[in-house]
Amino acid sequence: MLKEKFMSLLHRLLPVLMLLGLVQWVAQRNHSLLFRWSEQLSYLPLVSIIFTMLVATKFGRSRVVIACLLLAYLCIEGLWPANQYIAFVSLFLTAPALTVLLGLLLWDRDRGFALPNLLLTLLWMTAAVLVTYALFEHFPEQWLHWLKPINTLLPQSISPLLSPVHWSLYLVLLLFGLLRLILNTSHSHCMLFTSMLMMPVLAHQDQFFITQVTVFTLSLVFLTAVIIDSHNMAFKDELTTIPSRRALMQYVQTLGTRYVVAMADIDHFKSFNDSYGHDVGDQVLKLVASKLQKVSGGGKAFRYGGEEFTLLFPRKSVHQVLPHLEQLREDIAAYTMVIRAHDRPVKKSAKKTNPHRRASVQKKVNVSCSFGVASRSRLHSQFSAVLKLADQALYDAKKAGRNCVKSR
Ligand code: GH3
Ligand code: MG
Ligand code: MG
Repeated sequence: MLKEKFMSLLHRLLPVLMLLGLVQWVAQRNHSLLFRWSEQLSYLPLVSIIFTMLVATKFGRSRVVIACLLLAYLCIEGLWPANQYIAFVSLFLTAPALTVLLGLLLWDRDRGFALPNLLLTLLWMTAAVLVTYALFEHFPEQWLHWLKPINTLLPQSISPLLSPVHWSLYLVLLLFGLLRLILNTSHSHCMLFTSMLMMPVLAHQDQFFITQVTVFTLSLVFLTAVIIDSHNMAFKDELTTIPSRRALMQYVQTLGTRYVVAMADIDHFKSFNDSYGHDVGDQVLKLVASKLQKVSGGGKAFRYGGEEFTLLFPRKSVHQVLPHLEQLREDIAAYTMVIRAHDRPVKKSAKKTNPHRRASVQKKVNVSCSFGVASRSRLHSQFSAVLKLADQALYDAKKAGRNCVKSR
């Protein structure tokens, strides 16, 4: 489980970090060229981040919108440093404050754009900015010598970018950010983390064109994250995380004239839910889905709805697919699932203080699946007809006593 999380984190973070690293490298190497470009296209990063912000607004990703606003502010601050209002805001909205805000956003959720939620967000953001301001203004002198070694430990190329206090805060926030990513690895979380990670570079206003290049890259990265997350929401089943029925219907368009459809249905799932509860049922659905996803023979699994799944085998005949389904059926039936169940109230005294609190116990359960298989033929050339045939075969499997594979 942890390994899967780590791999998905690596899969999401690594390309972005490589892109940002490459951009930084190119920016440092082509200093004069980029400097000229940034003078001519000085508004481009601002326009780009505002565009991303508008797209994120459309998708209701309020945290990405706020992160875009913070990055847009960095552009505005660099473009009009002499403006008195901007200079006043800069007193409070410093690099440490921005790092804190991005770190807190990472732990928050998308609250949408309803007025009370916006006010609440504004409130905690203002509080965070003021606390950070106070911390940096009144940081005890005698504590400074504890933090100074941090700058000496860091590579010479980056250590002067931040003060020792800011480096300490930054590293702590990064650690908390990483913890958050382990708990939730969505693209938006990864992108918020990346922007926090880039803060030493972003805040380095002496080289404003580096800030501009970084904001521009981040705006594209944010945009990609919003689009990928929205795509996943539409095409992945929320509970099991395998492709949804909508993804199935899209995949069907790509099928040729030779394919096999298999319908899988968990046996006696209603009574399973009745005896163990809906939560346990959900966990079992997830585990069965993960087994189905590993089907051999070139099959692809989708959640059709409820406890029914569809498996598609392009360029295959029923004869070729049957051994793979038989193997899958056996694997599922033999798989002892360890699930968490809340069915035992804690001691009476604990129940009094919180009646909803229950003890979590581990249970071992087994389920089986029935399968119905059919292939496309001249008589059944439409996908809906093949699906119906597979459904009838599934009915045959249920009638034959369940936990078996039947074809038509
Ligand atoms: P059979 O062997 O004939 O398939 O019996 P069954 O009880 O599995 O069939 P039936 O279609 O009567 O019941 C399906 C049950 O699946 C009903 C519902 O309680 C359960 N179910 C459907 N979707 C979900 C879900 O998302 N989570 C959980 N926990 N249960 C679900
Ligand atoms: Mg069913
Ligand atoms: Mg069933």
